[in-house]
Amino acid sequence: PTQTQYGLMSPEELAAEHDRQKANYAQLKTEKLTLDLTRGKPSPEQLDLSAGLLSLPGPDDFRAADGTDCRNYGGLTGIAEIRTIFGELLGIPASNLLAANNASLEVMHDNIVYSLFFGNADSERPWVAEPVRKFLCPAPGYDRHFAITESFGFEMLTIPMRHDGPDVHAIEELVATDPAIKGLWAVPTYSNPTGAVYSEEVVRALVSMPTAAPDFRLYWDNAYAVHPLVEEVAPAIDVLGLAAAAGHANRPLVFASTSKITFAGSGVSFFGASDANLKWYQQHSGKQSIGPDKLNQLRHARFFGDADGVRAHMAKHREILAPKFALVREILDDRLGASKVASWTEPKGGYFISLDVLDGTATRTVALAKEAGIALTPAGSAFPYGKDPDDRNIRLAPSFPSLDQLAKAMDGVATCVLVAAAEKLLNT
Ligand code: PMP
Repeated sequence: PTQTQYGLMSPEELAAEHDRQKANYAQLKTEKLTLDLTRGKPSPEQLDLSAGLLSLPGPDDFRAADGTDCRNYGGLTGIAEIRTIFGELLGIPASNLLAANNASLEVMHDNIVYSLFFGNADSERPWVAEPVRKFLCPAPGYDRHFAITESFGFEMLTIPMRHDGPDVHAIEELVATDPAIKGLWAVPTYSNPTGAVYSEEVVRALVSMPTAAPDFRLYWDNAYAVHPLVEEVAPAIDVLGLAAAAGHANRPLVFASTSKITFAGSGVSFFGASDANLKWYQQHSGKQSIGPDKLNQLRHARFFGDADGVRAHMAKHREILAPKFALVREILDDRLGASKVASWTEPKGGYFISLDVLDGTATRTVALAKEAGIALTPAGSAFPYGKDPDDRNIRLAPSFPSLDQLAKAMDGVATCVLVAAAEKLLNT
């Protein structure tokens, strides 16, 4: 039988395979595609699920349950009803959860900026006054997290990512002795991009480990807490409760939003933390704004009704998204399975699939795809400074294209992976 595993092929077999894939690639280029797998954007069909928001709260409905006129200034914490709904979903008491404007990324950014200028509730001095500032970055991770810490001059330390969260032993060792390490980026549920779900063991280790910096923080970005691709959602781990029990109540800063629930550009974001952290945060956010967009919060509360309303809504997203993820998996299995030059994650939730190609070929694969009209996130994006030391990781975002476009794009990507791999093996 013909050999299909690239690593076991004779030079002649490999050269023939390279020719076959190059012919596939030439064919692909004649199709003049313009397809985009770069960002995890909801598709128009998903946005349509929340069309009801556009006519809420309606002409006569502007009062929150406590009588607040949502049209007016004020209410720095956000309105109670939306905090209650998402408090239940995130496993955070509503009193420890603020509701804010449309972008949780902004709240993360503000937390960093306030810490730089003023220090956080446990700092001895503002972070800018430290000679060196470092941040732990589990990778592959979310490029926009890394962009924040890079832009403010943090030295970013890469932590290997596993299926159940980051390598805690590596983290424990680093934070125990280095007071310059001020925080860790974490996406605990259906992480971007691997889909990893942090185990309770990992969470317990992160909230209890001794840290040389008294003001060390876990930037706990639970962006995909209620975004399963399967029937059952990963249980919400009570990170704030566990941290308090471990004597580190101020360590976690929890973020979330409805960006991938309702409208990506017009949702509601959330910030959950200890009483001391929330007091500290509002002391500074109160200078920046007189209050968030409460009407948008009210319209979201009316739209969902309660936490079950959110769960039912997410089931509709799943109906649209799950077939797209299944399709990607099917094409990857079919086109790349036998070659053994690539591996990929099979997430149970979230928005991404993380594809690892043959070491040293991710950049080439992305370039080939680009030339064939398929836009992929630049190779290395999921690593600090955009540098993947092994040049093997590519983040795939299947949510936006239609099934038909997705099939074309993924088949094209598979061809590019194989061309790059055969090329590399022939030259080494
Ligand atoms: N965190 C993660 C992990 C994300 O993947 C995204 C969106 N891609 C965001 C935050 C952005 O959230 P928001 O729209 O609330 O700023």
